[in-house]
Amino acid sequence: MQTILKRLGQKDRQAIRQVLNIYHDVDKETLRFARRTHISCPPRCGLCCQSPKVEASVLEMLPLAVKLWSEEKGMSCLENIEKKHAQKRCFFFDPDPHNAFQGRCGAYQWRPLICRLFGFSLNKNKYGSYAYSGCKTINHALAEGHFDLTKLTQSKIPLTTMANFTMRLSGISTSRYDTKPLAINMAIKFALEKIGFELEKHQWKCRIKQ
Ligand code: SF4
Repeated sequence: MQTILKRLGQKDRQAIRQVLNIYHDVDKETLRFARRTHISCPPRCGLCCQSPKVEASVLEMLPLAVKLWSEEKGMSCLENIEKKHAQKRCFFFDPDPHNAFQGRCGAYQWRPLICRLFGFSLNKNKYGSYAYSGCKTINHALAEGHFDLTKLTQSKIPLTTMANFTMRLSGISTSRYDTKPLAINMAIKFALEKIGFELEKHQWKCRIKQ
């Protein structure tokens, strides 16, 4: 991955590092949120990943694109995403052949913000009040009284909100990278194309210098 990063321009490298820093902070906060609320995903549950509504920005998918190109999987991945264009669910979801509702994320370490924060953060409305939205399974568990939102919002510890992190993301040079949410498969496709193009450009520059 480092070799590929070195072939990118300084601005791209910087943006990718910033995204990875945000992911690092998200993981710390969601872990804290999970500890405070005792919320956890059911083992091997893949319901969220099967939703056609999962969205991410191209910027969020750049680290995964770099990783795929560094493993020489960039081109095959691009071709497969295009072939499976009609498939609405995330390309990286690896379903369990024995249980349609279960599976695993094939890009867990590199997954975008929504995949890290959904169910493990709060939303703030325009009146400043907090709301929690999780998946059906988690909401069902909460209905049984697993955590008290009022108590949580009244505590002095800062709360994990989706907006905090999306704002940090949009602060990364918005003119150069797209931070608009797209269907996740489109976002990874464009991120792969962007990194592929930058790598080609680097190769051309090297050839010209020779
Ligand atoms: S990136 Fe991983 S966690 Fe996110 S939707 Fe795809 S398979 Fe699920």
